[in-house]
Amino acid sequence: MKIGFIGLGNMGAPMAANLAAAGHEVTGFDTVAAPPAGVAQAASAAEAAAGAEVVITMLPNGAILKAVAGDVIPAMQSGAVLLDCSTVDVASAREVAAMAEAAGLGALDAPVSGGVGGAAAGTLTFMVGGGEAGFATAKPLFEVMGQKAVHCGPAGNGQAAKICNNMILGVTMIATCEAFALADKLGLDRQAMYDVVSTSSGQSWSMTTYCPAPGVGPKSPSDNGYTPGFAADLMLKDLRLSQAAASDADADTPMGALAAALYARFVEEEDGAGRDFSAMLPRFETRTRES
Ligand code: NAD
Repeated sequence: MKIGFIGLGNMGAPMAANLAAAGHEVTGFDTVAAPPAGVAQAASAAEAAAGAEVVITMLPNGAILKAVAGDVIPAMQSGAVLLDCSTVDVASAREVAAMAEAAGLGALDAPVSGGVGGAAAGTLTFMVGGGEAGFATAKPLFEVMGQKAVHCGPAGNGQAAKICNNMILGVTMIATCEAFALADKLGLDRQAMYDVVSTSSGQSWSMTTYCPAPGVGPKSPSDNGYTPGFAADLMLKDLRLSQAAASDADADTPMGALAAALYARFVEEEDGAGRDFSAMLPRFETRTRES
């Protein structure tokens, strides 16, 4: 397939490289990053999009996505699919899909989970919003870049699924970390805490797959000095997106709001910037009820 790929950063570069390695003809554009091996360089986003059957974007936020969409949509051939894999707000995703559809194009929002490791290994999970025809066109590309693609409904629903999942993740990670810190103060051994909770009703992915306590459970960023992994900054971004969506939809999300406030404090006022999001555990360890 002839593919335009815009946004060749930490995630986009390995995704584009995997598509090229699978035999697709990939032309890339990034305002800063150079294309990875096997990907041809275009002089602009519009040039990368011209003649492509699918144009993939992997960009930082909704404002940049809307600006790039404004450049590429007029350059795309009729019937082509605009496939956005960035994590952006639901409203921007729906606006871009409407712009693309008005121009006779297919549009999908397909944010991912799996991080930089999953992008490099081609094991991402895609949460996809948009029409059936576009999903069918993009399916072979999801199979190269990932291991699973779930069609979640019309435009914007991929972003909706992603931010709801990550709101649960942010809340459960904080709950797991504060419980470990309480267990420490009660004299409960961390291994015993893990052995009980990982097989009891407090169990979650945060405990059993990504345990925030070093030396306990499977290997995780806590065993590597809390080097991300999934950075606290990116968790904060996703929690803010879920709060913006909750506000637009008039949904009551008190735990999500508190998680967003705690990660904002951790990243912007404490030492959380650039650390894994599970570094909430050392944060709670050093705190008291008053601090
Ligand atoms: P990144 O900052 O490494 O990459 C973004 C790239 O977009 C950069 O190379 C930047 O130069 C480029 N860019 C910015 N404006 C541009 C423009 N106008 N035209 C062309 N290129 C432009 O970010 P990333 O880690 O690759 O993340 C990309 C997206 O994926 C984000 O929405 C992020 O939330 C999401 N995501 C990231 C991870 C992760 O672990 N890094 C995991 C899941 C989802």
